[in-house]
Amino acid sequence: MFSVSVRIEKEVLSTYQTTLLRGGTIVRTYRTRRAHYLVRRIVDFLYRNEDGYQIRMMRLQGNTKIRKKYKINSTRICGLIDPSSRLIFVDFRYDPIATIVHEALHALYPNKRERDIAKMERLVMRYITEAQVVIIWTLAERCMRAT
Ligand SMILES: [Zn+2]
Repeated sequence: MFSVSVRIEKEVLSTYQTTLLRGGTIVRTYRTRRAHYLVRRIVDFLYRNEDGYQIRMMRLQGNTKIRKKYKINSTRICGLIDPSSRLIFVDFRYDPIATIVHEALHALYPNKRERDIAKMERLVMRYITEAQVVIIWTLAERCMRAT
């Protein structure tokens, strides 16, 4: 696997929980760097919210009205993004952080296919830190209140 060697000050070490120590040299893998890059982009997206997205928490799974409106076949749906009306629907019963991450990635990478977005979501959720979850949740709450 491709990896990048970087020297990081000791106090910074704790923020990289996935850092591997090899013979005194800190090795941050490419995947970790990629995950944290994606988190930064998601945080930036939620913070700026230039398009004025609104996040709506609801019971999405089994919501026939929404399924009809957006022509969704799958019954296992946790989130949905409607770029034309700037809406993000999140089913609060299924890990809202992972869902917000997923839908934000759709907004950031509109040309990526579902499979690639799901892959990116898994990468982010594997390396995301507690502090990053708190930031994402705080910013997402702002988008829930917006009218
Ligand atoms: Zn998706």
